[in-house]
Amino acid sequence: MRQIFLLILLFIVGQWLVKALRRHDAQASQRNGTGANGAAGAKGPNGQNGGARASASAPAQLAEPMIRCVECGVHAPKSDSVVVAGQPFCCAAHAQRHGARPTGRDAR
Ligand SMILES: [Zn+2]
Repeated sequence: MRQIFLLILLFIVGQWLVKALRRHDAQASQRNGTGANGAAGAKGPNGQNGGARASASAPAQLAEPMIRCVECGVHAPKSDSVVVAGQPFCCAAHAQRHGARPTGRDAR
């Protein structure tokens, strides 16, 4: 009977340790950030904010400037675009087509 009690105690201590570790991780990532979202992290002692914070930092890597093709209007990432005479195009073919045409097309 005493062993079961000991097991329960171990389980509780383990849970407490995991919770403490998670809180420590949250505080560390909070310190790394600018601290603007410090209020959001302070109200969560149940450790559910850790996942939200990890996913919030992911979209920053996807930020790439997008350009709009002058010829077809398709939005393309800037690294894939072709810029001719200051005007962005989605591909070289559209740049050539746009350049071959008279500028009367812009009047609409
Ligand atoms: Zn295009």
